[in-house]
This record gives sequence, structure tokens and C-alpha cells, in this order.
Amino acid sequence: MESAHRILTPTLESWEWQLRGLCRGMPSEVFFTAEHDKGQRRLDHEKSAKQICRACPVLLECRRYAVEAAEPYGIWGATTPQERRSLGRESGPAVKPAS
Ligand code: SF4
Repeated sequence: MESAHRILTPTLESWEWQLRGLCRGMPSEVFFTAEHDKGQRRLDHEKSAKQICRACPVLLECRRYAVEAAEPYGIWGATTPQERRSLGRESGPAVKPAS
């Protein structure tokens, strides 16, 4: 049992940040746009989600995870999927501000 604890602890610690996210308990639709969301409607939706993320105490942890995991959908750490792909291609850390 002790060896299992040693194996599981790092995993639990690596996800602990999610417990402190401002999005916790919010509807997923706030951060995930529908396929039919296009143009200005999509931009407004993304902007609204990003505003929540920018006040979130775990923005950097969230963004780092989403870039490293190549999350293909939704707003994570105030970034869109396209912005995360760009950050992932950069050599620096995934903690730079996104527009
Ligand atoms: S940065 Fe945004 S998506 Fe990430 S945990 Fe915070 S509110 Fe949720």
C-alpha cells in the first residue's frame, strides 16, 4: 500500500490546481464554444471566458497543462486552441500572456 501511495501522490499533486480554478462548478459551455459559434459570436464567447481565466489564481498552471496536453478544444488558461498550438511551438515556457 505504501508503494501505491508513492506512485499516486505526484499525480494528485499535479492536478491539485484544478480544485482552485474559478471555473470549478461553472457550466462547461462557458469555456467551450459550440461548433455553430462563428465569427464575432465566437470571439465574444472566447473573450468572456478569457476574462474569467485572467482572474483565476491557477491561470499559469492551467495554461501549462493545456499547452503540454495539446488540449484541442475550449479556453484553458485564457488561451484558445490556436493560441496554445502557437505557444507549444515556442521554445519558452507556456506562461506568456495571450491576447
Ligand atoms: S484559467 Fe480558466 S480554465 Fe483554467 S482553471 Fe482557471 S478559470 Fe478554469
